[in-house]
Amino acid sequence: MTVERTEVLVVGGGQAGLAMSEHLLGSGASHLVLERGRIAERWRSERWDSLVANGPAWHDRFPGMEFPGDPDAFVPKEGVADYFAAYAQKIGSPMRCWVEVAEVSRNQGRPGFTARTSEGVIEASYVVAATGPFQVPVIPSVVPEIQGLTQMHSTGYRNPDQLAEGAVLVVGAGSSGVQIADELALAGREVYLSVGPHDRPPRAYRGRDFVWWLGVLNLWDTEATPGVEHTTIAVSGARGGHTVDFRDLASRMTLVGRTEAFAEGRLSFAGDLAGNIRRGDANYLSLLDAADDYVARNGLDLPEEPEARALGPDPECMTDPLRSLDLAQAGVTTIIWATGFRQDYSWLQLDAFTETGAPLHQRGVSPEPGLYFLGLPWQTRRGSSFIWGVWYDAKYLADHICKQRDYLAYAPGQAPSTQDR
Ligand SMILES: Cc1cc2nc3c(=O)[nH]c(=O)nc-3n(C[C@H](O)[C@H](O)[C@H](O)COP(=O)(O)OP(=O)(O)OC[C@H]3O[C@@H](n4cnc5c(N)ncnc54)[C@H](O)[C@@H]3O)c2cc1C
Repeated sequence: MTVERTEVLVVGGGQAGLAMSEHLLGSGASHLVLERGRIAERWRSERWDSLVANGPAWHDRFPGMEFPGDPDAFVPKEGVADYFAAYAQKIGSPMRCWVEVAEVSRNQGRPGFTARTSEGVIEASYVVAATGPFQVPVIPSVVPEIQGLTQMHSTGYRNPDQLAEGAVLVVGAGSSGVQIADELALAGREVYLSVGPHDRPPRAYRGRDFVWWLGVLNLWDTEATPGVEHTTIAVSGARGGHTVDFRDLASRMTLVGRTEAFAEGRLSFAGDLAGNIRRGDANYLSLLDAADDYVARNGLDLPEEPEARALGPDPECMTDPLRSLDLAQAGVTTIIWATGFRQDYSWLQLDAFTETGAPLHQRGVSPEPGLYFLGLPWQTRRGSSFIWGVWYDAKYLADHICKQRDYLAYAPGQAPSTQDR
């Protein structure tokens, strides 16, 4: 059996694997990126047809290349995947598509790792797991299988025509849930949207997109707080981009609180809808306050926008919330669970995980020497799982690998090679 050798093996050819490849090319370390599908496969096959990037083209990109066209536009998902494919070509990334890594284990009695892949065995001194922040769809076990009711995760949703006739319940009001519910309502479907806790920044304020405000206010760089569960952000780039406003959504669909339990054909919802919407409003207003303060302190000439503070009256779903729904009577034929993801690193046969399977790491550096994680939610900061943020985390990991290489290359009496860089 032939065994191929590389210094760094990067597993996953999405934006994270590509960013890693770019920085490794700059460092001179030999490496391979293995991707089981196409480059940025999840943008192509695990997202709905009409999805556009949540941030404008000038922002949601790598520093080394701009998107073609209008920098303020929201790029369709295929355009995002095409961008990464073009990027891989531009930098000459050693990316191999359609190769799945089945298992990685540590070599016994010698350094490095051995990877078993769908195309043979590869040995590497370092392994970077870049298999995504959002890997395995999670559907809570609330509603059993019922004839005439289709249940799917948001990764399985494509467009309104795919769904059987009838009303739709969307569970989850992060960016995926609100965008899918909105699309279904605009297509004339009767929609119920189950709304949990969320943050909802304004799409734009005083002439600047929220991605700009989060940038200048240094909020993208907010660091992970151990033990703190972070709130999902509800934003949308759909239809040219707009603020997610639950009071407006309530005029086109029925909003309910968190989905809690199912018995005898009825789903019950928590009584937390009004509280969740109010906390989202407070988050929205706090960003306007921070933006106004920033404008005042820096004497910026950005047009005032007092009308952005008008929230409108509480809709009926807040004052008299629906707490339970007979699915058959309401004609609900589909439930779309926009309820997030879990990670699956079962292919990594290494001692680098908590009891619940979460990766142990500090800024992506695992306690298992030579193993790295990249693209995790909040790996170092809020931006870590996003297009622009992962590029900086990849740079940190490439530097870390080079430092380790230098230590291992040390021989007594020789000057260190690159530590003085
Ligand atoms: C609906 C949605 C919309 C989003 N919109 C935006 C946005 O607008 N802007 C933004 O900045 N971020 C957005 N994100 C967040 C983030 O940018 C994406 O999740 C992005 O896909 C993450 O890239 P990644 O490379 O870290 O992971 P992934 O894209 O998940 O890439 C991991 C790759 O690893 C491959 N892989 C997995 N296991 C193996 C294996 N064993 N062997 C070989 N290959 C393997 C997979 O095929 C996949 O291609 C969005 C996320 C979602 C879910």
